[in-house]
Amino acid sequence: MRVAILGGGACGTTAAWALARAGVEVLVLEREPRVGGLCGTEERDGYRFDFGGHRFLSRSRALESLVRDLVGADLMLRTRSSAVLHGGRRYRYPLELDDVVRNAGLVDGARALLSYGRQRLRRRDADVSFEDWVVQRFGRRLYDTFFGPYTHKLWGIEPTAISADWAAQRISLPSLGDVALRLAGLKRGGARTYARRYWYPRLGIGQIFERMAEVAAAHGATFRLGARVTGLERGPGNERGPGNDVRAVQFTGAGGDESWRCDAVISTVSLPLLARMLAGPSLPRDIGRAAGNLRFRGIRLVHLLLNRPEVTPHTWLYVSEKKYAIARIQEPRRRSPEMAPPGRTSLMLEIPCDPGDALWTASDDTLLGRCLDELRALDLDVARDVVGHFSSFVAEGYPIYHLDYASERQRVLDYCADTTNVVSVGRQGAFRYVFMDTAMEMGLAAAEQLLGRAGATRPSEISSEAGLIEARALTA
Ligand SMILES: Cc1cc2nc3c(=O)[nH]c(=O)nc-3n(C[C@H](O)[C@H](O)[C@H](O)COP(=O)(O)OP(=O)(O)OC[C@H]3O[C@@H](n4cnc5c(N)ncnc54)[C@H](O)[C@@H]3O)c2cc1C
Repeated sequence: MRVAILGGGACGTTAAWALARAGVEVLVLEREPRVGGLCGTEERDGYRFDFGGHRFLSRSRALESLVRDLVGADLMLRTRSSAVLHGGRRYRYPLELDDVVRNAGLVDGARALLSYGRQRLRRRDADVSFEDWVVQRFGRRLYDTFFGPYTHKLWGIEPTAISADWAAQRISLPSLGDVALRLAGLKRGGARTYARRYWYPRLGIGQIFERMAEVAAAHGATFRLGARVTGLERGPGNERGPGNDVRAVQFTGAGGDESWRCDAVISTVSLPLLARMLAGPSLPRDIGRAAGNLRFRGIRLVHLLLNRPEVTPHTWLYVSEKKYAIARIQEPRRRSPEMAPPGRTSLMLEIPCDPGDALWTASDDTLLGRCLDELRALDLDVARDVVGHFSSFVAEGYPIYHLDYASERQRVLDYCADTTNVVSVGRQGAFRYVFMDTAMEMGLAAAEQLLGRAGATRPSEISSEAGLIEARALTA
């Protein structure tokens, strides 16, 4: 069997690893010059940057063992420290009651609790939007001061236009009551937000997938980097129908346009792109409309190479207020000391934006000036320590869960499912807000499905939407 894998991110590389070890002929087509996708790591002058700092943790012991075996002694167990910068104050994250009261002051703290109390006395309506979900669990006051502005900045659209599903997945605290139970030690485990310990490779998150690709290649898989998939060829027909299956993948790379004959395809490229490639010029209008509505939020990452040993004690700093373009600040050497040369550190600034908008198109120098001003205002003045800077661009950072996303996603998935030798998986391929471990599980499930293994889980059945936030506590 010859299997083409579109995209060499976490999902595609894991599928390639599983299939190659089973003796299948595999070709991975990846448009970037490296494997890993969003879980890649790039190096610049001895500094290393992920595409937004990543941590690995999983509910699955099998997946965790696989990663531990692959990376070996280079896999480190780390403890995270996160904080929220808001209104000139720094709050520990996840929330800690004593810290919130000390920082917000009794008056603001009491207002938030009052607003929460009032909400509790009301009958709970069905959650439709992100705003409904948060207000019903946290009260209007916390929504207006923190969740609403941060979410608007992150997504670029009003939180009333975002599905409640996203809140349910992203905010792993069901309510303030739940926070109190956890703080009192009466409730444990489960939510990803609470996991303080996580796995991280010495040379950045991309090391997992570089290693995995090496093992897959040793079993015969071919990785074509810098190869962009441009089309899918149908037919000739078989017993399933007249020319329905994909018989070859077209791509363009260093050698120009090429085509590779295949028996099956695992696609991890974006679902709308897959639908368009399957349809060619004859995409049905309703599918075209639904696919057009499945959009992604982009991120521009501004990387600062610094000549100083450290900036903050935190791995992640969330910047909630809308007046700042920066949404998250990360100091990579907090995850691994090898992310910067000895005695030096760096910062990675996450700026949510959309391809083509003012933040996306601003020159590196213009944006650097704005970022340094914002850092100064946040009491993190690093201007005189900058020895280099550059941006990375992620066009498909976050699938946008607008109010009708679920039905539109299903319509496009059903359309693609008519082509029975193609399976669409991964964060972009399934249009699901999944973490790396789930993307890897989807890759394994897609491989099992093609191998026809009895009892194989269907990739679409991996993790309920609510289950995506679950994590196992790491103590080893
Ligand atoms: C800022 C940020 C922080 C995150 N932090 C964490 C974290 O801490 N922990 C965690 O578990 N998860 C985290 N995630 C989520 C994690 O990155 C994803 O779940 C995971 O990378 C998805 O893997 P994937 O293979 O499905 O998709 P991708 O990594 O996007 O892989 C898809 C691949 O397809 C390639 N491709 C696309 N189109 C084409 C084409 N036409 N031809 C050829 N190749 C193509 C892309 O280049 C890419 O390599 C984070 C995500 C972001 C954006």
